[in-house]
Amino acid sequence: MVSLGCPKALVDSERILTKLRADGYAMSADYAGADVVLVNTCGFLDSAKEESLEAIGEALAENGRVIVTGCLGNEAEMIRARYPKVLAISGAHQYEAVVGAVHEAAPMPVNAFINLVPEGALKLTPRHYSYLKISEGCNHRCAFCIIPSIRGDLVSRRIDAVLREAEKLVAAGTKELLVISQDTSAYGVDTRHEPREWKGREVRAHMTDLARELGGLRTAEGTPPWVRLHYVYPYPHVDQVIPLMAEGLITPYLDIPFQHAAPNVLKAMKRPANEAKVLERVHKWRDICPDITIRSTFVVGFPGETDADFEYLLEWLEGAQLDRVGAFRFEPVEGAAANLLPNPVPEEIKEERFQRIMEKTAAISAAKLAAKVGRVLPVIIDEIGEADASDPDCDGSIGATGRSQADAPEIDGNVFLRDVSPTLAQGDIVNVAIEDADEHDLFGVVA
Ligand code: SF4
Repeated sequence: MVSLGCPKALVDSERILTKLRADGYAMSADYAGADVVLVNTCGFLDSAKEESLEAIGEALAENGRVIVTGCLGNEAEMIRARYPKVLAISGAHQYEAVVGAVHEAAPMPVNAFINLVPEGALKLTPRHYSYLKISEGCNHRCAFCIIPSIRGDLVSRRIDAVLREAEKLVAAGTKELLVISQDTSAYGVDTRHEPREWKGREVRAHMTDLARELGGLRTAEGTPPWVRLHYVYPYPHVDQVIPLMAEGLITPYLDIPFQHAAPNVLKAMKRPANEAKVLERVHKWRDICPDITIRSTFVVGFPGETDADFEYLLEWLEGAQLDRVGAFRFEPVEGAAANLLPNPVPEEIKEERFQRIMEKTAAISAAKLAAKVGRVLPVIIDEIGEADASDPDCDGSIGATGRSQADAPEIDGNVFLRDVSPTLAQGDIVNVAIEDADEHDLFGVVA
């Protein structure tokens, strides 16, 4: 660690080192003994900047593997222009980013006696599915949303880091990867889709490259994991991932938060990729990949939404036949630009529109699920039930709960299985004959 700058920077260095020490790393007294050199920079005065740049240059010359952090890290482009070989750059107080970069540059060998954290990190989800975060922040400024003011503009992770994490998760038993961000289709826009080497080839930080590579991973059983894309805005390049779904490379599922359909409401909402032809494109996607599930969310009662706008939305939904829909009544979140818009919608009208959109989308969902009765669908098992010993009529058979490819965990429906084998385990993917359906869920038996 080469620590430059003021006491605040010194404290940052201490925190970074404390975390690295806790992770099992040791400090080296010289360049030669280090697997990687961290330079914590100062960018306050021109002279301090120059000193920091010289320190980076020296570390590169002496060791070659250099991670830059600290105040000068905010001028990443300038640093990269002078030292393109720097491994990673982060700004002041970005402890997590620095520590992550060290983990990547000099991974600690897994030691069962000292590692408290399993390989693949601690997870709050069950072992068989994992969220894969590809970026943080958002470049849009939707009128009802305060995320950009809390999380800042889009910062995409390196594609090789994302893929390495995905590979580790799959090796540790993940059967389903859920790709998340604030705006998945914008992945890599901030880094100009910076390519990185991955398995001997160049891969861009771009949603299509990411989808293709994730689809190429294999579980311990040699099968591809399910790969589900969330928070996708309908930019033109989304069309390119639909053939990957048709080929079975990624799960035929798109979570697109449309939020509305009426052009003037979308305009007032300042929604990204808000163009008139979305409905046509939805139909085209279905032509290419008939099994695609489209999930979305909608807001009713946004300021200025007229009866005509709402009717437009209902008609649009009839045309789009979305598989899964969540609806929300507009709420003025503190700090959101939408709160200042004229013509708020009275609560009782909001409520009525909410009830109507729920009825409409539940009817579409019920019809779509009814059409699946009689088919055999792959289902991932989330939970195995137990025989009900207290019920004298119970014949000892057990049930299980799973999800089809059309169901993301927590937000969509389930597939309820009857009479499953005692050998069935959480995370198994089995073919299920669908026997019945209701508004949200399917019911069946292992085929
Ligand atoms: S709602 Fe809009 S501003 Fe908020 S995170 Fe999503 S795209 Fe970004």
